[in-house]
Amino acid sequence: MYKHYPHMLAPLNLGYTTLKNRILMGSMHTGLEEQRNGFVKLAEYYKARARGGVALIVTGGFSPNHLGKIFPFAAKLQTKSEIKNHKLITNAVHAEGGKIALQILHAGRYSYHPFAVAPSRIKAPINRFTPFYMPGFLVDSTINDYSNCALSAQEAGYDGIEIMGSEGYLINQFLVNATNKRTDQWGGNFENRMRFPLEIIRRTREKVGNDFIIIYRLSLLDLVPNGSTFNETLQLAKAVEQAGATMINTGIGWHEAKIPTIATMVPRATFTFTTAKLKNEIKIPLITTNRINTPEVIEEILQRGDADMVSMARPFLADENFVIKAINNKSNEINTCIGCNQACLDHIFSKKLVSCLVNPFACHETTIVAKPVNKSKNIVVIGAGPAGLSAAVTAAKIGHNVTLYEKDPQIGGQFKLAKLIPGKEEFNETLRYFNVNIINYGIKLILNHEVTVNDIMHGNYDEVILATGVSPRVIDIPGIGHSKVVSYTDVIASKVNVGSNVAIIGAGGIGFDVAEFLLHDPQHKTTTQSFMQEWGIDASLRNKGGVLTAEQMSEHNPLRKIYLCQRKATKIGKNLGKTTGWIHRASLIRNKVVMLNNLNYIKIDDDGLHYKMNNELKILNVDNVVICAGQESNIKLVKELKQNNLKFHIIGGAYKALELDAKYAIEQGTKLVLTL
Ligand code: FAD
Ligand code: NAP
Ligand code: SF4
Repeated sequence: MYKHYPHMLAPLNLGYTTLKNRILMGSMHTGLEEQRNGFVKLAEYYKARARGGVALIVTGGFSPNHLGKIFPFAAKLQTKSEIKNHKLITNAVHAEGGKIALQILHAGRYSYHPFAVAPSRIKAPINRFTPFYMPGFLVDSTINDYSNCALSAQEAGYDGIEIMGSEGYLINQFLVNATNKRTDQWGGNFENRMRFPLEIIRRTREKVGNDFIIIYRLSLLDLVPNGSTFNETLQLAKAVEQAGATMINTGIGWHEAKIPTIATMVPRATFTFTTAKLKNEIKIPLITTNRINTPEVIEEILQRGDADMVSMARPFLADENFVIKAINNKSNEINTCIGCNQACLDHIFSKKLVSCLVNPFACHETTIVAKPVNKSKNIVVIGAGPAGLSAAVTAAKIGHNVTLYEKDPQIGGQFKLAKLIPGKEEFNETLRYFNVNIINYGIKLILNHEVTVNDIMHGNYDEVILATGVSPRVIDIPGIGHSKVVSYTDVIASKVNVGSNVAIIGAGGIGFDVAEFLLHDPQHKTTTQSFMQEWGIDASLRNKGGVLTAEQMSEHNPLRKIYLCQRKATKIGKNLGKTTGWIHRASLIRNKVVMLNNLNYIKIDDDGLHYKMNNELKILNVDNVVICAGQESNIKLVKELKQNNLKFHIIGGAYKALELDAKYAIEQGTKLVLTL
């Protein structure tokens, strides 16, 4: 038994087989599934996670037939020829002593193609295609497709399957009255509505025999107003157990839910209370999930007895060695998932290959490779923001001698401000990770030193990497020097007092973050309870779908009156993250933030911010105007190096300020040093 994390690292006996610890890598579609030669890459990706010590991996969702595909060319597992590819994955994982299950996912009315099918012909609010009604024979053949898919998975060498029964996909659509208006044996009362998933489990168990893991992913909280009640879910869980499932995994929220479930502002392990509520009602192992990202949180959950196992998905993109590091009592070396969604979920929704903001190697195991160097070089990195940090740590990791300069007393660059935004506290973890690696890899860190061209000339460096980042753009409006005007850096660093009426110039990511910052009392800390109340989650689990009614929501009085302004006529927040932008907008709308677009700023004076909209002159009578008008590259040193004919590489914000974000900065820093 391990002294540290004894619950997390304890084996789990499933009868015919044993899982080596209590951690499951949850299902994530990567985009490799549909790529040419993608299975070779997928095999490497899963192999790395198996080597990293996770007990059981669940693949991304594979459809059991054509109609259930989530998009037209999405992967499925139905034919003999498709089995062959999967063997690459199972062999790779088994070679590392791991176990892997295939997720079977039929998207139903979430299928983004014209041949989508569903229990009833009711369009999903997040899909433009209206599904076709599934006649009885199609329901029956679809159940067979699920069980045949499971059989194919077994033939391909998988240790089990997961039946995707949550997130609002086909199975959920059968379970809920709002999406199932059938009058046959598959609709009507709850017994009839749950017949579909139970029949899938029964027929699957019959086909695959006893020595095969069947995980059922159960939606414990639908988070849609007409979703299942908790009593129905409990009834289903017991029936799922009876029907032959080995374990129950948890799902939280349908995709159409208007409540955040995994983004960074969701407090860690917020939804585990739902698993805990089910725990004593069923005997088979129960797996909890959502916003769990550290061994400490996992250990607490398991120690409390809220669940038997924990599922994490994105944390295995951020660090494939999560479990091994915990086993070696080095959890401070884990590259923690910060819940940003920027390189994972946002990529899926933009049809790009998944990766990870804090770990650009994820899903690129065969194309971005950190091989130790034969001859180490003396490398100097100037600037310890995300770009410089990733370059310095990667260079040191592969064997170079690295000196890292930073003019501030701490590392982090703009991330030092990002982590101060309420709901972005996770960003601190990335700086902890870099700090630990600076020590572990022997990087010479020199703080409080603004590098000049002289330092470079006399430094005897083989390679010079400039990562001097960005500074806030200074804009040219009459009255910009007025005492009401403050910069976002001073506001977030609490260097200035801000009044109760505020105009924010610039509605990009930072404008939104500043609004969020100004709406929070600095003394207030978001807790699970305050988060649930804020977003209307019914902690008593009495309401349908687990959501509060409008009457049950308490009246919200914002801390300040905020006007968020931009010059463009486009929708405010249009360029925010695909899977998180709606959350930021919803939060500001609830706080009665006034969003003004299509503005022409005229001047700032004692009366406030003067602007023209549709040629009409107006004034926002505000106490302060916060400037969040983008950034400009810090290129003073670039010019000086060029003037002195010195060679250098330039990365991150110093290279480009427009459309810069930390994902770009970290990826560019990492990739550059692999070429030196
Ligand atoms: P910087 O972060 O600017 O770092 C440059 C570093 O170089 C600084 O530490 C600076 O002091 C140092 N330096 C400069 N000149 C010298 C010199 N001559 N000598 C020594 N040191 C020097 N991005 C996202 O992707 N997602 C987000 O959610 C997100 N949220 C944000 C929220 C806020 C409030 C802010 C301000 C930014 C946010 N960003 C976010 C943007 C992200 O932080 C930046 O894109 C990223 O920090 C850029 O990295 P960089 O290393 O290129 O530059
Ligand atoms: P940004 O997204 O480019 O927004 C800059 C804003 O300033 C725009 O609204 C722009 O709108 C306005 N602006 C630009 N020039 C101006 C001028 N001369 N006068 C007045 N207004 C001007 O940049 P940002 O908000 O500074 O964010 C920086 C980076 O950090 C972005 O890449 C962003 O993705 C990243 N970030 C991401 C998140 C996240 O949640 N993912 C959060 C924070 C930051 P108009 O030109 O229409 O006025
Ligand atoms: Fe986590 Fe962000 Fe990486 Fe996605 S991109 S795995 S949310 S850190």
